[in-house]
Amino acid sequence: MDYVEKRRRPDWCPGCGDYGILQALYQALADLNLDPHNVFLVSGIGCSAKTIHYVNANGAHTLHGRPIPYATGVKLANPNLEVIVIGGDGDLMGIGAEHLVHAGRRNVDFTVLMFDNGVYGLTKGQASPTLKRGTKTKALARPNIYDAINPVVLALSVGFTFVARGYAYDVKHLALLIKEAIRHKGSAFIDILQPCPTYNDINTKEWYEARIYKLESEPGWDPVVRNPSEEEVTKKLTQAFLRGMEWGDRIPIGIFYQNEYVPTYEERILEQMPNYLKAPPALSPLYGPDNST
Ligand code: SF4
Repeated sequence: MDYVEKRRRPDWCPGCGDYGILQALYQALADLNLDPHNVFLVSGIGCSAKTIHYVNANGAHTLHGRPIPYATGVKLANPNLEVIVIGGDGDLMGIGAEHLVHAGRRNVDFTVLMFDNGVYGLTKGQASPTLKRGTKTKALARPNIYDAINPVVLALSVGFTFVARGYAYDVKHLALLIKEAIRHKGSAFIDILQPCPTYNDINTKEWYEARIYKLESEPGWDPVVRNPSEEEVTKKLTQAFLRGMEWGDRIPIGIFYQNEYVPTYEERILEQMPNYLKAPPALSPLYGPDNST
């Protein structure tokens, strides 16, 4: 399948990490051999949000911070679609953070790709919720005074059942992560470290590449929950949290946690309302009868 949208060319700044993420997404979709008409991308607002325009598949460019509720609706309306949310760290950790939290609680069967560059690139580089306190990028008049959100730890805390971190310039590795996230049954979240050479002159390609290491190369690393016992889940979550807290001289990328024993949102609804997908939309028991006329 050809996922490259030939009518539009990406217009990100030269050297932007978004190019690597787009290549990884193309690679993952092609490797999975998914029909473009069965893929639905949903983005919010930001440099990352343009991604959907460069992929030959269904897409909706929605409101700032709102791709997750939109994507939840798409998945509920047609559970056969592979739904992928594209958002920046401003979009998903700022104005849209509450939606991310509740997507985890629901375990909606979709994939969330977060382009994490620490700044609001589209609006001239203000500090985003993932920029570390004390960091002064070239776009800031003074060092950032807010504490940063840790996206991996947040996603683990709120119930995402697949949590990973990738790096925009390691396209091959990121494509593997995206493939695993799409294959995963349940809410999948990938925090993608994405250099923004225009506004973030601290977390650069060189900065990341001096620190990044792969979890799968660590002896004995196994993020997958192998049975649904409380002991097993606690063990896998604990090791994921510990690795997720690591930041500084060493920054882990790879899969932190995966648990397919948790029922998805769609399964929970079907359990209580077995006919909901069989009824016409106006009569769907999800929304009640249409009394508007
Ligand atoms: Fe990429 Fe930053 Fe330019 Fe946006 S501002 S396109 S994130 S380099």
